[in-house]
Parts: sequence; structure tokens; C-alpha cells
Amino acid sequence: MSSDAKTLTVTFGETVIAFTPIYSPRRKTVEIAVEVPGQIIVTAPAGTPDEHLLAVVQQKAKWIVQQLFAIRSIRSVAPIREMVSGEAILYLGRSYRLDLQVDPHLRSPAIKLYRGQIQIQSKSLEHDYLRRHLITWYRDKARNRISNRINYYAPKLGVAPTSLMIKDQEKRWASCTSQNGLIFNWRSILAPAPVLDYIVVHELCHLLEKSHSKRFWSLVRSILPEYELRVQWLRDNGVRLDV
Ligand SMILES: [Zn+2]
Repeated sequence: MSSDAKTLTVTFGETVIAFTPIYSPRRKTVEIAVEVPGQIIVTAPAGTPDEHLLAVVQQKAKWIVQQLFAIRSIRSVAPIREMVSGEAILYLGRSYRLDLQVDPHLRSPAIKLYRGQIQIQSKSLEHDYLRRHLITWYRDKARNRISNRINYYAPKLGVAPTSLMIKDQEKRWASCTSQNGLIFNWRSILAPAPVLDYIVVHELCHLLEKSHSKRFWSLVRSILPEYELRVQWLRDNGVRLDV
């Protein structure tokens, strides 16, 4: 089996599928596999033209994206955090290790993402105190990220929300007010970026269509053709998005 370093890409909705074909003289057909942690393996007969590989991968794109989402959803996460150093906590779908440091001079905790860790410097390591400040940090991150994504998607739909609020909603990811203001659950920032994008697009579409009608879902689909995978991800994993 021989391979060269050429990378080919196919896009499906907003997902870019990148792969480096592996050529084998023994192969008769193109074979595609998706492996943990999200690698796409394309094996092809020696001499297969790029256009043919791209066409085969494009044809299987929906299946590939489904596999990628399934792999990402395998990770299991405890819903209630102990708030101890080394514990895994989520941010934008990734797991970060909590790194706690005592600093008696700090009036309120300093929190930052640092080398795969969420570092908290704080005068107190008391559970509720840390959790409360971590949630404040998530809320700030959620506000920035979501307002950014609104700026990206709203023009595509020709809409403009009147306000953006980040709230602590136990039962929902987001909602749209009758005045066309948008409210998001801070826990949305724990979801992978494509899932957070879906939550944003869903609410933006409500500015054009309040009910979950056929028209509503076709609006969502026009922006995110593979949105159903993101809905499914939320159904399967949403309960874990907490601290
Ligand atoms: Zn809705």
C-alpha cells in the first residue's frame, strides 16, 4: 500500500470533509471508513482519478457527517461537577481539565482557557462559589460567541433580532420573544460549535416563522442542510451539557 500526502476536500452543508487518499494496487473499489476521533479513511485502487474519489465521497457525505457526529457523541460526561483540579469540564464541545489555584488576593476568581485547561485562580475553592463564577464566565463566553454567530447568520436570512439575552433556563436551549428578542441558555456554550450554530439558526428562523411549520424547517434547512444531525446530537447529549 502506498500513499502520498495529497489532501482532498468535499463540503456537505457547513462541514468540510478532508481526507488523504490511500492507494492500493490490490483494491478494486473505493472504500470509506470513519474512525475515532474523527478521521476519514479513503482507500482506492492505484491510479484512481481525484474526480472519481471526490464524487464517491460526495455521494457518501451525509453518511460520513453522521458518523462524525456519532463519534463525537460517544464521550460520556458526568452532569454534576465536583469542582476539583483535574476534573473534565466542557466548553464548545471539548473537554478541558479544571486547574484550580488559590490566590488570596483576588476579589473575584480569574478564569481563562489555557493549554487545554480551564484555569481558575480564586481566593476560595468552595464548590458553590467556584461554580457560580464559572457560570458567569460561561455566560460571558456565550454572549460573545452567540452574538458573533448571529452577526454571521442573520444577514443570510435577512433578519435582525431586537435584543440578545443569556439566561439560566433549565428546560430549553433558547427562545424568541414576541418582540423578536432572542434568549439563549448559557449551557449552549458547552455544545460543539456546529450544534451551537444550529441553536442560533433555529431562533433566527423564528424571527420569520414563529411555529415549527414546514416553512420553518425548510428555512433552517436552507442554512444548515444537515441540521437534523445537530438536533439528534442535542437529543442524545443535551442532558450532559451542565456544570
Ligand atoms: Zn423553535
